[in-house]
Amino acid sequence: RKGNVIITGASSGLGLATAKALAETGKWHIIMACRNFLKAQMAAKSAGVAKENYTIMHLDLASLESIRQFVDSFRRSGMPLDVLVCNAAVYLPTAKEPTFTAEGFELSAGTNHLGHFLLTRLLLDDIKQSDYPSKRVIIVGSITGNTNTLAGNVPPKANLGDLRGLASGLNGVNSSTMIDGGEFDGAKAYKDSKVCNMLTMQELHRRYHEETGITFASLYPGCIATTGLFREHIPLFRLLFPPFQKYITKGYVSEEEAGKRLAQVVGDPSLEQSGVYWSWNKNSASFQNQLSEEASDEEKARKLWEISEKLVGLA
Ligand code: NDP
Repeated sequence: RKGNVIITGASSGLGLATAKALAETGKWHIIMACRNFLKAQMAAKSAGVAKENYTIMHLDLASLESIRQFVDSFRRSGMPLDVLVCNAAVYLPTAKEPTFTAEGFELSAGTNHLGHFLLTRLLLDDIKQSDYPSKRVIIVGSITGNTNTLAGNVPPKANLGDLRGLASGLNGVNSSTMIDGGEFDGAKAYKDSKVCNMLTMQELHRRYHEETGITFASLYPGCIATTGLFREHIPLFRLLFPPFQKYITKGYVSEEEAGKRLAQVVGDPSLEQSGVYWSWNKNSASFQNQLSEEASDEEKARKLWEISEKLVGLA
């Protein structure tokens, strides 16, 4: 049979390009988990993904209730689950004030980290039950949270501190909206959420890989300077960022190329190793990248896991 893969945020950018790349192999059925059903439908159509290769299901990661409903509807569909790709994200670099998820968590941490944390924990049971030969959970990371790289050192730098803001709820009422307890900064909130994604991938690996055989991996697909991720940025930035990445940093990749990279992490037998953060060199060859000190801190990963469990109602 075909493999079944859920991709969150498959209505644009990297998620859509990955859905297209996987559909073209003829080996995958893609469950596009999207907050805007119509947008997802139009996106799949205009990308030329054949109807029989995908199903769209509603998922709003900024609502824990919606995540639980998504899991219920997925289970009712009767499809086995073989691979989960946590790809959706929001990036609010110019926001002056924080915005919040349905449960009142700062939106970047709430969507990118807490939403995917709950989704993954709930779907782990489903993946365990699948008889697919290579089962995987992939969480899209980023170099921007990686302070051992040049791009990761552009201020404001990611820093989760001692997680005191997260522990007190990130709601801005009786707590800070930032994980480290500091003042709200939209660009930093995104980078922090990506560090959480990479810590979560490794904690999943430590807790479940041996017992379940599931591969847990993260990746930095390259700088896909043209996606909707930068929609909140000022117009001048949006104009100059793609050529800057193309000609100056040379970190630019097209959406199509990035989609092929993520598709490799989904299905390529040579990328089956668990606990790995994949990157690609200039010749588009994959390699296992080093994580920053904070993103590989085991103690922090454990603490993040425990606090996140409480916030999403699992503990
Ligand atoms: P896009 O903005 O194009 O895609 C983000 C997707 O997430 C969209 O489909 C969006 O839905 C979805 N999304 C946002 N909020 C929610 C929500 N509450 N519930 C469900 N879905 C939601 O950006 P990219 O394709 O660039 O980003 C994809 C991933 O790649 C992210 O994890 C990002 O961090 C990562 N990444 C991107 C890089 C880049 O250079 N672009 C570099 C490194 C990593 P909608 O279409 O409805 O808005």
